Amino acid sequence: MLDRRNFYINGEWVAPAVANDFDVIDPSTEEACAVISLGGEADTDAAVAAARNAFPAWSMTSKEERIALLEKLLEIYVARNAELGEAISMEMGAPINMASTAQSGAGSWHIENMIKELKAFSFERPLGDHAPDNAILYEPVGVTALITPWNWPMNQVTLKVIPALGVGCTMVLKPSEVAPLSSALFAEIIHEAGFPAGVFNMVNGDGVGVGTQLSGHPDVDMVSFTGSTRAGVAITKNAADSVKRVALELGGKGANIVFADADEKAVIRGVRHCFANSGQSCNAPTRMLVERSIYDDAVKTAEEVAAKTAVDRAATEGRHIGPVVNETQWNKIQGLIATGESEGARLVAGGTGRPEGLEKGFFVQPTVFADVTPEMTVAREEIFGPVLTMMPFDDEAEAIRIANDTPYGLTNYVQTSDPERARRVARQLRSGMVEMNGVARGAGAPFGGYGQSGNGREGGHWGIEEFCEVKSVSGWSA
Ligand code: NAD
Repeated sequence: MLDRRNFYINGEWVAPAVANDFDVIDPSTEEACAVISLGGEADTDAAVAAARNAFPAWSMTSKEERIALLEKLLEIYVARNAELGEAISMEMGAPINMASTAQSGAGSWHIENMIKELKAFSFERPLGDHAPDNAILYEPVGVTALITPWNWPMNQVTLKVIPALGVGCTMVLKPSEVAPLSSALFAEIIHEAGFPAGVFNMVNGDGVGVGTQLSGHPDVDMVSFTGSTRAGVAITKNAADSVKRVALELGGKGANIVFADADEKAVIRGVRHCFANSGQSCNAPTRMLVERSIYDDAVKTAEEVAAKTAVDRAATEGRHIGPVVNETQWNKIQGLIATGESEGARLVAGGTGRPEGLEKGFFVQPTVFADVTPEMTVAREEIFGPVLTMMPFDDEAEAIRIANDTPYGLTNYVQTSDPERARRVARQLRSGMVEMNGVARGAGAPFGGYGQSGNGREGGHWGIEEFCEVKSVSGWSA
């Protein structure tokens, strides 16, 4: 079994102050595949102190020096991609082909894009022609605590670590204790790239321990968090006493509005997207709203797509979905499927229990509910499993009303061949992102939500600005 008990603090791998072993469970086998330590106060303090000590020198480095190190990091990350894919696959159950392409590849894509953004970013700018002696300086916010979830491990880690490094912040990463293995490799990559000691530190731990210690720590200037709305609220409250900046990327309950004039693949695409990563994506299109004239056909198509969606172990090569991450999630999903049935949603595919032939492992049947109404639990709660809810609508106004009837606001989707309508609907959807007709967000687009989906924007120049203080200086003669 893999031993990953040590933390990365001040440029070296160090043992936890107090031993506190925690097993990492492979969700395909339900067996422990690695052991880590859950850190405590002394470990958190040591990591924050290292980041604090490294800040003065690192914050004064030039953009070019930081970019050179990030380019080195990208080179090593790409060279170790296969290892990262294997770690992700084992820790959170993504099928190996997907883990070593979409999952680990999201990391290299973000590193590459962020390097481009940094090259174009001006850290010192004039205020404007009207005030020639005024300068605006973008400066690193300071010591940052980066707290990440398990569902897209390297995606989340790179979206935070790379801009934080790029602007001159120092940091303590606390990856999810459920999926910490890829982050341990990432810390090795940082080390190999040659970042100065103390700039990047990594401590494993859980939310009540290291997570809470970081969000309340007097020497941490900012917390950047991705995870559940529940934890986001707790972090915000705990950070308030020291007036930290808190950037939140939280849950979602995306609507996918399919109009009768949508392209013929729209429904298939939407169902597959909902099931991808076993439904464990914050931006998954989990509520499919279908115009009534094509609703029955859409339900039939969804049923067929669900029946054809293969479920298998993460280590098996090929195109399938893997298990969900752990027993807690499995139980939660089973409970929500049962609630869907008891509240009167029509089960057209899947249901409770494991798929045939997979008695061990946290496998969930690809499930489709039709005739869901907006007040049902399955239409309101984030399920975070391969479960699609479908409901009909009569006109555009009703579709928009249902889509916006949620406390979340991360990504909504629109399918229509009428470009006027597409734009009209996009403007009215209360979410940080709208993806239409299967067109993916481009490089450098901001990722983030409205309402209870959070307040941050990651990626692009927005992702850089999130880690900056803005200083106004007058009397700055050129
Ligand atoms: P989680 O909130 O349970 O845990 C996320 C991280 O926060 C972990 O590292 C955990 O240890 C830590 N944590 C938990 N409680 C904490 C506390 N009180 N204080 C400090 N840290 C704490 O979430 P999860 O189950 O790992 O991830 C799934 C959730 O993440 C879903 O709700 C999903 O929608 C969301 N998510 C959002 C985005 C986004 O960008 N908006 C991306 C991925 C996942």
